[in-house]
Amino acid sequence: DRIMDGETTRTEKEQEAQLRPQNFSEFIGQSKVVDNIDLMVKSALVRKTAMDHVLLSGPPGLGKTSLAMLIAKGLGSELHVVSGPAIEKKGDLAAVMTNLKPRDVLFIDEIHRMHITVEEILYSAMEDFRLDILIGQGASARTMQIDLAQFTLIGATTRSGLLSNPLRDRFTAHLNFDYYEPEMLAIIILNNARKMGITLAEDAKMQIARRSRGTPRIANRILRRVRDFALVNGTHTVGIKEVKAALSLLDIDDLGLDSMDRKILSVMKNYYQGGPVGIDALSATLGEDKQTIEEVYEPYLLKQGLILRTPRGRLLSEIAIQHIS
Ligand code: ADP
Repeated sequence: DRIMDGETTRTEKEQEAQLRPQNFSEFIGQSKVVDNIDLMVKSALVRKTAMDHVLLSGPPGLGKTSLAMLIAKGLGSELHVVSGPAIEKKGDLAAVMTNLKPRDVLFIDEIHRMHITVEEILYSAMEDFRLDILIGQGASARTMQIDLAQFTLIGATTRSGLLSNPLRDRFTAHLNFDYYEPEMLAIIILNNARKMGITLAEDAKMQIARRSRGTPRIANRILRRVRDFALVNGTHTVGIKEVKAALSLLDIDDLGLDSMDRKILSVMKNYYQGGPVGIDALSATLGEDKQTIEEVYEPYLLKQGLILRTPRGRLLSEIAIQHIS
């Protein structure tokens, strides 16, 4: 049960659905993003047209899907959700798009991992609400055009830098999610504890907030374990004791790092004398996918100043060396 898996399991998705913010007032923090979205939604409602296309970027579990759901709700439109890498053929995406009604919202998760041939049909769809489909081959090949309803595309990505230029340019707004400060996470934790029917002591709440890697999805995971302890002990009130037990079960340390975070740091220290080390070498030694290291683990380690990026590779910081020994 690794705490920072990039992928979420099916059961977790179902459990998460119960904890999703139901309206904008339940969506905590990310005020810059929310202010932009609020304006865009209101403007679309006044203009009575589809909202402009928007690209949401940031590490996993920070609320991109939740926000997309709130946007569709705010617009009074239907949300259609697809995962970028799961679309294998142009025709699959074309089928989804031809089903959209005026002002509907299409959410494409992990849009940077979409196949390039599939991606290409998005260009005219986003710009002119039209699909250009090539039929036939060789001399008899023709382009067929299909008109689409005016819709809004919301793209979510953990790495906006990996988007192709033509795709990136077609998004009117680029909004970036940041890791949450403990004070903001504490509010989310309190709301979600209430939804789960448990009461948290103040210090218990802050402890979870500080150890959640700035990520609401992780706070929810810790909260579920904490709830289990409370249930087993026959109480609805959770104190610091239950939180500590849950954190130790999930292998989360004082800095909020999980076992994979620590493995990265210790490999850098013990195999590469603290670096600099290139991402390919690191990924081979760890036996972990390069993309996962870059998208899921590294951003937080960088943000916490545990590793530093230099032109010659990744370097371990003094804090990390102290923490690991
Ligand atoms: P992402 O799409 O960025 O991976 P999600 O939208 O799936 O993240 O968020 C995961 C969970 O975290 C949600 O189910 C919700 O419970 C919680 N969450 C995320 N962001 C917020 C927020 N700003 N306010 C309240 N809860 C949030």
